[in-house]
Amino acid sequence: MRARTTLLLAAVVPLAAATAAAALKAGHLELYADRHRIRLTPVARRSCPQCHGDGGWWVTGADPEMEACGCWSNRRELRIRLLPIPPWPDEPPF
Ligand SMILES: [Zn+2]
Repeated sequence: MRARTTLLLAAVVPLAAATAAAALKAGHLELYADRHRIRLTPVARRSCPQCHGDGGWWVTGADPEMEACGCWSNRRELRIRLLPIPPWPDEPPF
């Protein structure tokens, strides 16, 4: 699993440099990469016995709210800073 994630990272970083942004889902993590950052966000597991991949459930009552499932909310997001973000956009808008 670890080796596979490293391989994915190695494949995505050059891709992110060539294109504006890239995003993909790998296992229980969602990977987002652009010129400024790489972000690995935990996502819900399909095999989770509690949320079955939905990431949470609605709690009914007087004040209904979404309850986040621990299969992803208990894991930390990983961020890697790449280029500093410029104070203004470096590409002209179309
Ligand atoms: Zn869950």
